[in-house]
Amino acid sequence: MKSPAINKAMDILRQLRGITEGQDNLPVKLDKIMALIASSMNADAAACYIAVDDTYLELFASHGFNPGAAHKVSLRFGEGLVGEVAKNNRSLAVADAWKHPKFSYKPELGEEEFKSFAGVPLIRWNRAIGVLVLQGREPHEYSRMEIEILETVAMVLSELVSSEEMAEYKKSLIKERGITEKEKHKGISLSKGYGLGNAVIHRRRQAVSKIFAEDKEAELHKLEKAHQQMNEDLDEKFASTKLGIGEHVDILDAYRMFAKDKGWYKKIADNVQSGLTAEAAVERAYEDMWNRLSGTTDTYLKERLHDLRDVADRLQSYLSGDVGSIKGVDSNDIVVVAQTMGPADLMDYDYSKIRGLIIEDGTPTMHVAIVAKALNIPVVAKIRGIFDEIKTGELLGVDGTEGYVYINPTAAVKEKFQDKIAAQEELKRKLAELRKLPSKTKDGVRINLAINVGLAFDLDYIETTNCDGIGLYRTEIPFMTSDVMPNVERQLSYYKELMDRAGQKKVIFRSLDVGSDKLLPYWSFGGEENPAIGWRSIRITLDRRAILRKQVRAFLRSAAGKELNVMFPMITNLAEFEEAKETLMLELEKEKRRGEPVPSKVNVGLMIEVPAVVFQLDSILPQADFISVGTNDLAQFTFACDRGNPKLTERYDVLSSPFLTMMKEIVTKADKYGVYCSVCGEMGGNPIEAMALIGLGYRNLSMSGSSFGRVKSMVRSMNVAEVSDYVNNLLKSSKRTLRPQLIAYAYDHGIEIY
Ligand code: PEP
Ligand code: MG
Repeated sequence: MKSPAINKAMDILRQLRGITEGQDNLPVKLDKIMALIASSMNADAAACYIAVDDTYLELFASHGFNPGAAHKVSLRFGEGLVGEVAKNNRSLAVADAWKHPKFSYKPELGEEEFKSFAGVPLIRWNRAIGVLVLQGREPHEYSRMEIEILETVAMVLSELVSSEEMAEYKKSLIKERGITEKEKHKGISLSKGYGLGNAVIHRRRQAVSKIFAEDKEAELHKLEKAHQQMNEDLDEKFASTKLGIGEHVDILDAYRMFAKDKGWYKKIADNVQSGLTAEAAVERAYEDMWNRLSGTTDTYLKERLHDLRDVADRLQSYLSGDVGSIKGVDSNDIVVVAQTMGPADLMDYDYSKIRGLIIEDGTPTMHVAIVAKALNIPVVAKIRGIFDEIKTGELLGVDGTEGYVYINPTAAVKEKFQDKIAAQEELKRKLAELRKLPSKTKDGVRINLAINVGLAFDLDYIETTNCDGIGLYRTEIPFMTSDVMPNVERQLSYYKELMDRAGQKKVIFRSLDVGSDKLLPYWSFGGEENPAIGWRSIRITLDRRAILRKQVRAFLRSAAGKELNVMFPMITNLAEFEEAKETLMLELEKEKRRGEPVPSKVNVGLMIEVPAVVFQLDSILPQADFISVGTNDLAQFTFACDRGNPKLTERYDVLSSPFLTMMKEIVTKADKYGVYCSVCGEMGGNPIEAMALIGLGYRNLSMSGSSFGRVKSMVRSMNVAEVSDYVNNLLKSSKRTLRPQLIAYAYDHGIEIY
């Protein structure tokens, strides 16, 4: 006797054969099959994803989801539940898909209302060639029998997917999209956007040809000249390049510090003294460092090692006289193709002409990708062999959004790229236009939007964004990029420049926040085991009070006759805040006694970054003029989750009940005590997260200048009262993340969160 599973499967298969052997064309057949499977299995929806290559799946047919979603949804192997099934080549069933950590929301599908999920792989020669999916509106535990039936159906479907008929259909799709297989290469996206331009091949590293030197003095002279020339060129490049704002600027400055590092230079010179050529000496110095650091698990040190490799390569090219230049391509639109690349290498090119970047060995955290992103350059990486395949001058299309590279694209693909690029420009224009419009929600609530600044470059954003003020001045950045600890006069020159550029706008200075990942080149922090929770930030400046006193003196002088706002980072209890505040007030008194001009008003605040402070708001808020929530650190301490560890990036979400509840508690208390409250961590600069914060009651957000336009556009399209109801209701949820719901809400209510 056959099992019930087999009987049921046979019944479905009989009907399925009827469809596959019928006269309909393939898309119609697939649609009919999906409807059959959904109804026979008592499911509300069914879908069939087919692998288009070894890395991507595309929705080919569905029933019960948004009609017309076919070919509009694609997923990487490993992405979402469907991608997980394909990657592991194994069935997966969950009662509520939204609760699964791997769930990835696809708005094109309209899957908001679906809960239960069962996915089985379509297999051919042991490889997943597609995924068959069932979904239901209610949570449902799929039985072993149901999965067995689906797996049997999937076997028949696999035949259809591997048929001639499907091959023909795929070809027709490719033709329709104007793509020929040969020209299209799949990689990973490191920076989104579309670009079209002529290939420029980035120079390869030269092998060291001569190891031992005949004339030590001549080698030393050569080394000195090359080192000096390299640094002069770097200084000039950086000074003439307007880089905007953010992490990429810190990266480039760190790189420059590396290039000037005296210890490194001395090691190379010592190697020359021991008889090596300058080139070999550079390699030896790098190898020594590599031997010492390559085993580290510390991501910061690993990144430094990359920087050192890049600086060593750069010095080698100065030594050999082969300083990289754009040769043989006379074009205003270029795509740089590299095996690997350092962040400063990008500056070798006129970046206003760079339309795309292809890096064969790229990784998402590599510094050049962060710099490229800040410059709005699309980047695609990890395409094996592409460096050797592309020839100088060839036309390349870089699709940084989906991670594709097109070599010598056809006219149709080229046209598509031109359309995408035009749409991209249109978006940029739209964001620029926002500058003149008020930052007000649809129901008339004014939201103050400020920017975070660190380096001189950032100041340009004061004008380009037309922001309400500077919500966070990270004063440690100029300290980090200086060779020595800046004295009061030097500090005053930085702060004064900011005050002058800000005019009447509110500026919030933060006292020195060093330690952890923000190291000073001239100061040893003495290898702590847990630097993020170690001797850092206010803990250092309270212990080394002279540093704090000098800094606040410079603050006071920079704001003579104006309002001064100073906040202290990493405050953990009231006593720390009182001590810091007292230091500032004593310095103010001293200035008055000295007859120096002082600010018209001094406001003192603190950052909310340590969870312990959230439980002391009742005692701290009456002493504070304002607070600013540093969500980057607050989240890392709340979730006990290192903010820089890439393995943890998707594990915990600030858009979850525990974190949002904490954020609500902070703003509610601040309102109760009438204390100005803002957010200056990354959360404020991400449109969907900013939407949730406004829903919780925040009215002041500060963000990097590059995020400003998108957040403002979101603000102008939201309704505070409605979002507030929705977000407050969501706080009851115990889901790991509320992000999918918030995104779905934004889509449904026309809130712009691009
Ligand atoms: C924060 O922690 O959210 C913050 C703004 O400070 P930083 O990122 O400089 O540590
Ligand atoms: Mg912080």
